[in-house]
Amino acid sequence: MKYFVEGNTGKWEVVMCLEVHAQIKSKSKLFSEASTNWGGEPNSQVELVDSGMPGALPVINEYCVDQAIKTGISLNAKINKKSIFDRKNYFYPDLPQGYQISQFEFPIVGSGHLNIETEDGEKKIGITRIHLEQDAGKSIHDQDDKFSLIDLNRSGCALMEIVSEPDLRSPEEVGQYVKKLRAILRCIGSCDGNMERGNLRADVNVSVRKIGEELGTRCEIKNVNSIKFIQQAINFESKRQVELLENGKKVEQQTRLFDPTKGETRSMRGKEESHDYRYFPDPDLPPLIVSEEKIKKMQNELPELPDKKKKRFIDQYNLKNYDAEILVEDQFVASFFEDLVSNRDSKIVVSWLTVELFSYLKKKDIQLEESNIKSKKIGDLIDLVIDGSISNRQAKEIFEEYLGSDLSALDFINTKGIKQVSDQTEIECLINSVLQKNKEMVEDYKKGKEKLFGFFVGQVMKESKGKANPQLVNKVLKDLLSK
Ligand code: MN
Repeated sequence: MKYFVEGNTGKWEVVMCLEVHAQIKSKSKLFSEASTNWGGEPNSQVELVDSGMPGALPVINEYCVDQAIKTGISLNAKINKKSIFDRKNYFYPDLPQGYQISQFEFPIVGSGHLNIETEDGEKKIGITRIHLEQDAGKSIHDQDDKFSLIDLNRSGCALMEIVSEPDLRSPEEVGQYVKKLRAILRCIGSCDGNMERGNLRADVNVSVRKIGEELGTRCEIKNVNSIKFIQQAINFESKRQVELLENGKKVEQQTRLFDPTKGETRSMRGKEESHDYRYFPDPDLPPLIVSEEKIKKMQNELPELPDKKKKRFIDQYNLKNYDAEILVEDQFVASFFEDLVSNRDSKIVVSWLTVELFSYLKKKDIQLEESNIKSKKIGDLIDLVIDGSISNRQAKEIFEEYLGSDLSALDFINTKGIKQVSDQTEIECLINSVLQKNKEMVEDYKKGKEKLFGFFVGQVMKESKGKANPQLVNKVLKDLLSK
């Protein structure tokens, strides 16, 4: 299904590309040995070079270079054997050097692509390039009435800027793109992908056009740090541009900010051109050379990537495309699933994971990995459903309380007294008592009023206080009524 913005003059197509800044998961910074730990005392993780001290020289961190190469390979991209670090000159209080070391004309990674899942099937999204650069520090404005504060702990941390082609056409596609990219980065371990902590953030370029026309003027929305906000920002921004154009005005090329409380974007500054930054090769850093052997080695060490895992899940466990996609989004979830499914029916396991467990996690607002829930805990409960000890419904009812308790699944249901009645004789007794009490209805049923079957089942379940095994009730009831 195509996505359009409906204006007074008809449909407008929305064109988007993303610049994702991914903080490289590394113990130390791109050009210094300072720690990159999150949440440290302000300005406690700063080497001379990170604070722009005269005479302090940058030294490239090979581990970070390797992560960029690995990321490039995972995105089917060309690795450039020679790349150049440049100075991007601008002033900002959180940028003590007065320039950012980045890559301009010759980035370490060239063009590649990734695949996203859309309603019309798989879609290839082009990656333009990935370059390495330093992060800036942080300005803190809300601690003091008179002053703003600067924390340089983040200054000099390694970033990969991953730039996409303008291939994205709807907020949903952009969401899928970010999810897939995050899944790949997490899978290979080059970035934590934690958007709340800002180690994955996106600049979103949005323009609109009438179908068949050339690309319109774009606005760039800076530093959006959740998929939901990215989508809200696109919705607002595309409508704003359509309204301008339909009223005979022009879209000005701008850098804009998204305000999550108001759900709107507003102008931050006129968009600068690259020549404004006076890029030039950093004289402190030689060209970055990557050997063929290194690229081969990284290629061989690559883990099973999300797309490959997804295909395997579909083949091996007979999963639906949609379910497989969700499971491979998170490496931890994928292996949790494989633990569970090893000796159980995949349909039941998928449903318990993606419905019950995921809504529990959403309610608690935590990731599976942080939740400390073990696959055995879930597996033991599923087993009690499979062997008929409790019904699916009973299991769902106790699920949340059970996860919060230290008891084993069996102890838990015994303590709660919710064991399902699966004893044939006991169930026959219950049914006979119900049929005795409703003799007239039994007659009606036998005369052809088959709808009454559900009524009998309901009565039996009520009599058993919900504990009777429903499958068995159905079977035995059918037998008894046909006599
Ligand atoms: Mn950048």
